[in-house]
Amino acid sequence: MTDLPEGVQRREFDGGDEVLATRGEPSYGEPVVDGWRRWEAHRSKFGATLELGLDTGLSGGDGVLYLGAANGTTVSHVADFAGPTYAVEFAPRPVRDLLDVAEARETLFPLLKDARKPETYAHVVESGLDAIVQDVATRGQADVALANRQFLADDGRLVAAIKARSEDVTEAPEAVFERVLDELRDGYEVLATERMEPFHDDHLAVVATPE
Ligand code: SAM
Repeated sequence: MTDLPEGVQRREFDGGDEVLATRGEPSYGEPVVDGWRRWEAHRSKFGATLELGLDTGLSGGDGVLYLGAANGTTVSHVADFAGPTYAVEFAPRPVRDLLDVAEARETLFPLLKDARKPETYAHVVESGLDAIVQDVATRGQADVALANRQFLADDGRLVAAIKARSEDVTEAPEAVFERVLDELRDGYEVLATERMEPFHDDHLAVVATPE
């Protein structure tokens, strides 16, 4: 099992098994013990990626661009242990919740933007970031990762959850994943992949670095 990023721990909640947790302000009704917030892998693709033991290369204090923040469930945990965290989401309704999550976190910057158009936030997001965490339910997930590669440091990491059904609802997930990985290789070296069952069906966790 690879090391968790500094600031992420396994903790016991209600006498159950140890699960992931980060330390910060509670934001969506999650259980909290001694200031540690339960980070449920079934509710978070990035949480599942850590739970599955992938080496994401992330460390405490890292600069992160988070694509597909929705209402902020996962990015709230990321901002607990990371440094500056830019959270891109294009749907206005979840962004209202995301703003509340950011209120309690000085280093979380919500952006109501389309991740396919990085030129619309390039003036706000710094470059040389340590990581892009991507969870966008959209067709063209490889294109989104390639378009945002410009923000990553040369040795930075892309940690993406690829959703097969967002690319094609009829094609076998394995075939979709192969195609998306091939497209990703236009700009990234793929370091590790893992299917995300039992946490998330028909999703592939990918760790990659700019090439
Ligand atoms: N990452 C979130 C979490 O774990 O808390 C859940 C993300 S949800 C599965 C996928 C999100 O991607 C949706 O909120 C959707 O609106 C957003 N999305 C899809 N296409 C997008 C795009 N082009 N730009 C920004 N957000 C996008």
